[in-house]
Amino acid sequence: MKKRIICLASIAVPALLLLFFLSTTIFKDKIEIKKIALQPLQPYDDSLFPEYKTKHYDINQTHYFEREALTMKGSFLLLDDTIKKVSFQPKLKGDYQLQFELTVKPVTKTTIKLYHKGSLLSEKSLSEEHSLVFRHELRLSKGDTLTLAARGKGAVIAANPNLFKKISPENRASIFLICADTLRADRLQTYGYTRNTAPNIDSFSKDSVVFNNAYAQAPWTLPSHMSLFTSLYEFNHGVKRGTVIQDSIDYFIEELSEVFCTRSFNGGIYVSSRFGFFRGFDYFKSIPGDQFSPNASKVLFELAIKDLEENPFPKSFYFLHTYQTHSPYNPPLEYLKVFNESPRYTRLSAPTVGSNHRDQYKKMPQEITDAYLDLYDAEIYTFDVWFGKFIRYLKKKDLYENAMIIFMSDHGEEFFDHSGWGHVHSLYNELIRVPLIIKFPHKLHEGKQVEAEVGLIDIMPMIMKYYKIPFDEKNIDGKDIIPFIENNAENRILISSLTSGFYIPALPFKIARIKSNTKIIYNAPYTEKTFAFFNSPPPPYISYEFYDLGEDPKEMLNIAHERKPEIKKHKSLFNQIIQKGELNIRNKGKEVVLDKEMIEALKALGYL
Ligand SMILES: [Zn+2]
Repeated sequence: MKKRIICLASIAVPALLLLFFLSTTIFKDKIEIKKIALQPLQPYDDSLFPEYKTKHYDINQTHYFEREALTMKGSFLLLDDTIKKVSFQPKLKGDYQLQFELTVKPVTKTTIKLYHKGSLLSEKSLSEEHSLVFRHELRLSKGDTLTLAARGKGAVIAANPNLFKKISPENRASIFLICADTLRADRLQTYGYTRNTAPNIDSFSKDSVVFNNAYAQAPWTLPSHMSLFTSLYEFNHGVKRGTVIQDSIDYFIEELSEVFCTRSFNGGIYVSSRFGFFRGFDYFKSIPGDQFSPNASKVLFELAIKDLEENPFPKSFYFLHTYQTHSPYNPPLEYLKVFNESPRYTRLSAPTVGSNHRDQYKKMPQEITDAYLDLYDAEIYTFDVWFGKFIRYLKKKDLYENAMIIFMSDHGEEFFDHSGWGHVHSLYNELIRVPLIIKFPHKLHEGKQVEAEVGLIDIMPMIMKYYKIPFDEKNIDGKDIIPFIENNAENRILISSLTSGFYIPALPFKIARIKSNTKIIYNAPYTEKTFAFFNSPPPPYISYEFYDLGEDPKEMLNIAHERKPEIKKHKSLFNQIIQKGELNIRNKGKEVVLDKEMIEALKALGYL
């Protein structure tokens, strides 16, 4: 009998534990946020909103409205003096927060009313264009109807409403993907730099996993970020200057947006909505003037904090991006003085700017090269000051512990390490080895260092896996990053390249294969004409380079002659990539028009 009791207990206890586990799992997975697509949608009438450009994706019938630097997902309601109503039944029960963003453009005085089960919640009468947010606490029963009614003449653009549960800050799941554009890894103390350019990033790294060999898939902003968000190599997504991402290519933010409120504050230009970066984002704001402002990071993090204060979503994803560390290097003087007490130069642009890259390989006096380094370090320091303030804000508001915070860069910057300046032009580590530091929720993997090579293409698959959001794992180039942390991922080949995405026509194709701390670089030949493009001659042409990164991290000694069999083995891979790159150049994809403002911004950054 006794034996039987023990036997029963041995079944009952695990069963109870299993039940408890299941109930907590189910509870955790319960929908805490619901986004409601407004129906019916009406044809957009641009005679009423000429300044709003609409974008529309066939894949999921999603409408985006863009005005200046803001793109929002939503619906369009055309008013013609009769009452227009949009109703929706969220099929939810319990206490919810409702958040509803509207932009109203009245021709005559227009009144907007919001009802819950026929009771008026909000009313606003407007005679001039206005953006407003309705926020309400609601007790919902299943089958309750919410109605937005408008009367007047004009139009309303409504961002899809969100219903969400108010939960305590420490339970809010936030993801922050933070990108300091143009930040090479070896300029951070975390990665061995002798100057402490980023004390806050360094202390953040102690709570995080540091990836010592993280690589960007392209050495410049547009293709690199597109690889990040599509988990595809640049010759596979094919997005380059003058094109927009094709509808048929999966953009991870769209899947993420089913579960998280997705928001971005960014420096625009090559991460702006015109290339398709807005896809999936509920709110996508490019900050005007970010690229020139000495205080770009301050503006960025203050906007993010304001947004977090106003929108206490239980699940939110933020992509926060700035060109603070990009040329022109013009840090606030107080931070420049950290590195040089009496600086002779307080602002410099990369030599490529203003010369349309003809001065890509110009030799400069040592004094100027040193000034560049001080200015660049001070820009990093400036970013770090505001990054630190943002981290302290998250801690103070109990948002830190449960947050996933990914700190990265899209590529590095050259200061004549290999006889060149700026970025785009090579695949040496000063351009493609980037910082990647990930803080997981609740100290998971805290303090680990990862030596395996990973790419920016591995970030989105990791986010999706971690938060259990389904995605197509087969048709991507990236892999979940977590097995690399746990040391049980297969050793793999990683590619960084300059093929379909290149933007200086005089630069030949380049492809780098990175594996087991070695790198092979293939360089396509210059023609007489392309070689003559540069004011100072580029380094002598070599078709293959081989570097042992463990022995020679600065890639100074090309040992290709010793590694001929290994190089030979990769020739067909390189040929396939070149063919894809060429194909993408011929198939221009969907073209985008660069407006005057964009052309000016590109010129100032040295891209034109
Ligand atoms: Zn960039």
